[in-house]
Amino acid sequence: MVVTAALLAGTASGSRGSAGAGEFTFYPQAGILWQDLYPGNFVDLDPGPGLRDFDCGTQTYDGHTGTDSVIRSFREIDIGVPVFAALAGRVLAVQDGEYDRRFGPTVSQFDNHVVLEHGPGRFTIYSHLRKGIRLKRGQRVVAGQQLGWTASSGNSSWPHMHFTSQVGGEIDEPWTGPCNPGPSGWANQPAYPTDPYVRDLALSERPFVGKAALPYDQAIRTGTFVAGTRTIYTRVEFGLLAGGRTCVFGSSGRTVPPRSIAPPARLSVSTTALATRPSRTACRSGRWAAGASSSTSTTRRSPTRPSRSFQTREV
Ligand SMILES: [Zn+2]
Repeated sequence: MVVTAALLAGTASGSRGSAGAGEFTFYPQAGILWQDLYPGNFVDLDPGPGLRDFDCGTQTYDGHTGTDSVIRSFREIDIGVPVFAALAGRVLAVQDGEYDRRFGPTVSQFDNHVVLEHGPGRFTIYSHLRKGIRLKRGQRVVAGQQLGWTASSGNSSWPHMHFTSQVGGEIDEPWTGPCNPGPSGWANQPAYPTDPYVRDLALSERPFVGKAALPYDQAIRTGTFVAGTRTIYTRVEFGLLAGGRTCVFGSSGRTVPPRSIAPPARLSVSTTALATRPSRTACRSGRWAAGASSSTSTTRRSPTRPSRSFQTREV
């Protein structure tokens, strides 16, 4: 889209520009940041080949122009994660009809997106959306109005929304911190987490392979446990583990002894044991644009031999 290409050509000054403090009163995607939505990349504030995000970290890639907030899987695309207008405005451009399940090496140049104009030189852009955007150029929208759904169209290696704010021809980074001082563009900017956290835990009767693996995640969850012996497959996703990366731990399954599972017991997974066994990990890098990779590791063990990396117990 020519309009978008011109907009995205703006430079990242790091200045808050004329954008108002606390102008964005909500994140324009359904969910809670770092509980449902995982910001992986921010604006690259380094004008050269280096990387610098608002927090003086490297959660960005060279020339990146916005915030990438990742969702967990294609399964969540199908469930539906709405994208909202961050501010009231007018639809400047819509591109639709592009394939919306891209990942890893299958990225494409063209995505489904919406560009809103909020005044002279003031734009917001919502990219990588699902097919079927029901907006027309020139249409007025109010803040909070749904624009579309999160997906993985275009240059997207994992389902996510890319959100760009632009002021006066320059990329505006609403997140503020030591490398982008000034009042935040977010009315309530959440603290950036620094400790590892669990993004997802899945239990299934079948291995997490094929379409059951990420990013498809068509695995059927096991939610009911009765007394007896059975094989359970587990998958745990961590954020900010192993140097800030997202890590996926998987096992091919283990037999749970009859006496360890009895209704109404609940399963717990020893995250300490998981975190100290990096050899069993397959970590996705924190970069979600072209060139990133993802995988799920599978550990094979005898079903009669307890797995040391997955300890289940009653709680
Ligand atoms: Zn992006």
